Amino acid sequence: MTADIVAAFPKVTLLKNESLSTYTNTKTGGKADFLAFPNSISEIQALVRYANETDLPITIIGNASNLIVKDGGIRGLVLILTEMKQVKVQSNQVVADAGASLIEVTKVAQHASLSGLEFAAGIPGSVGGAIFMNAGAYGGEISMVAESVQVLTPAGELKTMTKRDLHFSYRHSQVQDERDVVLNATFSLHGGDGQQIQAEMDDFNARRAAKQPLELPSCGSVFKRPTGYFAGKLIHDAGLQGYQFGGAQVSTKHAGFIVNVAHATASDYLAVIHHVQEVVLASEGVHLETEVRIIGEDPVRS
Ligand SMILES: Cc1cc2nc3c(=O)[nH]c(=O)nc-3n(C[C@H](O)[C@H](O)[C@H](O)COP(=O)(O)OP(=O)(O)OC[C@H]3O[C@@H](n4cnc5c(N)ncnc54)[C@H](O)[C@@H]3O)c2cc1C
Repeated sequence: MTADIVAAFPKVTLLKNESLSTYTNTKTGGKADFLAFPNSISEIQALVRYANETDLPITIIGNASNLIVKDGGIRGLVLILTEMKQVKVQSNQVVADAGASLIEVTKVAQHASLSGLEFAAGIPGSVGGAIFMNAGAYGGEISMVAESVQVLTPAGELKTMTKRDLHFSYRHSQVQDERDVVLNATFSLHGGDGQQIQAEMDDFNARRAAKQPLELPSCGSVFKRPTGYFAGKLIHDAGLQGYQFGGAQVSTKHAGFIVNVAHATASDYLAVIHHVQEVVLASEGVHLETEVRIIGEDPVRS
């Protein structure tokens, strides 16, 4: 019955055996059995209902900027929400669809002279991914501006979650535990000076460009900040900058990033991650926990 999913949704772009390396920011990753690009909440609801009825596992992807999809790919149905990207200003709030780019949302806010989202000017995720991860930078994080979020529960029900319900903490929100699909988010901002907001965003972006290897594929900071330390400094001090396995390399520009320098596979990324974790634990005594989400299946060995 699952093979009929393409026929069941003639209006949805639905690809079979599609390589996810086309979509991930690292340019790595195996194939999705089925990859859908829903355009509306009702399409997501219908796809989730179909998947539940046919026992197809569901995976949600936003901009795939914090993701490693293993080389064996993802079984079942993968939804990429980037076709849902409306952003609206309502008084001092910005309401954005889950698939909207967070960078686009910061531009809309600036244009409306609304302050509060400047910190996110260079975070290359979607709104849904930013809520899921409680994305943050330069002293700001999504929890400071997220007012409420509309989600679809795994059972297929629509629900509104307030900031309180989302239980934000460092790179974590309740959405991760509930396995909800974020559909849209409302950000509460305050009136400011458009030029000043722009200047602050430019400053953050310049700092980012100076320190981060933005010219190469990556998944951002691979590891969470361990309490009392900086992951990048620990990796640098352990002498790991430039360490390479296959095509994946600990960035020589920012030790917290792993960049794709030569047609890396997801397995190359995972090998570098494990090596870094082992060496930093042995030499610095600190366990580095991954911030990047690692999903999918290991490749079948022949
Ligand atoms: C160059 C670079 C710089 C970065 N800088 C920062 C930074 O400064 N601060 C920071 O916090 N992060 C940073 N990141 C990481 C990343 O951009 C953020 O974590 C972002 O919030 C991830 O959003 P995404 O849409 O790409 O999520 P994805 O990578 O697509 O997914 C991440 C997780 O969120 C889940 N998810 C995505 N959308 C939804 C949804 N609608 N509903 C439910 N679950 C969903 C996925 O299942 C997955 O588990 C950076 C990444 C790069 C490549």
